[in-house]
Amino acid sequence: MSYLDNKEPPRRDDRLQASITYGGSICSLAGPGKGCCASGQDRSFTQGSICLLLPGLAMLNSIPDSVVLLHGAIGCGSCSHSQNANIRSGGNTRWGRTKDALWLSTALNESEVVNGGEPKLEAAIRKADRRYRPATIIVVAGCVPGIIGDDIDGVAARLQPEVSAKILPVHCEGFKTKIWATAYDAVYHSLGRNLLENPEYQSRIIPDELEELKEKHRLSRTVNLMNVSSMGRVDELELTRLLNALGLEANVFPVFTKPEEMYKATQAALSISTCPTHDDYFLKHLQETYGVPYILKHMPIGIKNTGDWLREVAAFFHLEEQADQLIRQEEADLQAALAEFKPWFSGKKVFISAGEIRAYANGYLLTELGFEIAGIRAFHHDEFAEGEYQKLASLYPSDFPVNIANAQPFEEANLLKKLQPDLFLGHWGGNATASKLGIATHVIYNTGLSYIGYKGVYELAKRLYRQLKNPILNRNLREHLKLPYNPKWYERDPFSYIKSQGGQNNV
Ligand code: SF4
Repeated sequence: MSYLDNKEPPRRDDRLQASITYGGSICSLAGPGKGCCASGQDRSFTQGSICLLLPGLAMLNSIPDSVVLLHGAIGCGSCSHSQNANIRSGGNTRWGRTKDALWLSTALNESEVVNGGEPKLEAAIRKADRRYRPATIIVVAGCVPGIIGDDIDGVAARLQPEVSAKILPVHCEGFKTKIWATAYDAVYHSLGRNLLENPEYQSRIIPDELEELKEKHRLSRTVNLMNVSSMGRVDELELTRLLNALGLEANVFPVFTKPEEMYKATQAALSISTCPTHDDYFLKHLQETYGVPYILKHMPIGIKNTGDWLREVAAFFHLEEQADQLIRQEEADLQAALAEFKPWFSGKKVFISAGEIRAYANGYLLTELGFEIAGIRAFHHDEFAEGEYQKLASLYPSDFPVNIANAQPFEEANLLKKLQPDLFLGHWGGNATASKLGIATHVIYNTGLSYIGYKGVYELAKRLYRQLKNPILNRNLREHLKLPYNPKWYERDPFSYIKSQGGQNNV
């Protein structure tokens, strides 16, 4: 039985024993037989975090010709406002069409919490179908329907015969999991259950035998390039360029994929993940149900990681020689271009904060550029990061701290005060603490900027060079702003509030 036979996916807390709590060092994670983050660990004090709606909506709002219908409290989904610029620029760079994300909310109130929200959801689906005539209506459940027991799958099944749009239920009830990466599974779960079949295409008869052979050949060289919105268009183009150089064609999936074209993912020769922690749920489904094999290794960020990623793909198609030649040429050009920046980076200390694979891959990249890693904070841990610890630890004779935390800026502030890095690389919403401490910052991901592949290495180096040459903005911020923590907090162990199993704080 497949997970996709169920109405909703399991939590990553259960399926992968994923964890958000650890404070220690890279060497203690990478040593032989060492595990990470006993899943029973917790914090006796925690600060606010995000829920899975944020990554979930980043994917769903990008799907063209769709209405995203939030079923929940009025605040749920408000992150769509901040994501809208990405949807507009994403449409523009792909199709020359600038269009806002189309999202609605049932805005459940106290009366519906008591009496049930299904009638309001039914009315909203009918109205969305009549008013916008979309290809799909994506019903996303927040916490409230999960708590009061609204059955969004039942409503979808009941209404489907009456509406022309395909109704997709997506379960993003924030209270169910602390691992927001569960959002990827929730979205893939619904796409996999609802949009992969195309009976019209399957039964299509191609009258011309030559055309049929050409199409078969094309599909045998087509790969699914997975993007759950962790790459902007510039990064998609960089990976497509490298795949094209090997004679392969890329089918980018699922962001900005038209609903009627999603079935194409079932016909590719291979699926390639660009971040192992994102895609295992869906890629296993594609393999089990449609026979599409997959590669779930390496994030192509950094020189070695990009080469390793390309070699894995090439090996599948027996193109090892072509890949070696391509990598040699790309690396030679890149190293020549990096020569002016490297002396400037040499020995500078950097703290990195991001999702687990992105954080470790960037650690490798920055080490290749000459930086020293002062510390890493990864938002969660699961089995896909295990190999990354060994890779990084092998580069470092001395140890550095690793914090697994779903944000928790108080731990970060304490670490930064102690480590005093020259640079902080983190997500755009998470650079405030470092900025207020006067540390130069750069955003680790922005859809308009280049990060991935060989182009990404060069572009990032160029931006960091500019940033480090003139860090005056954050120094001014340090002069005029302060963090909210008591000075005594900085004298304590940053991981004081992590409880080991049994309930005791670490110190
Ligand atoms: S789904 Fe739950 S946790 Fe997420 S924003 Fe809505 S109420 Fe908050």
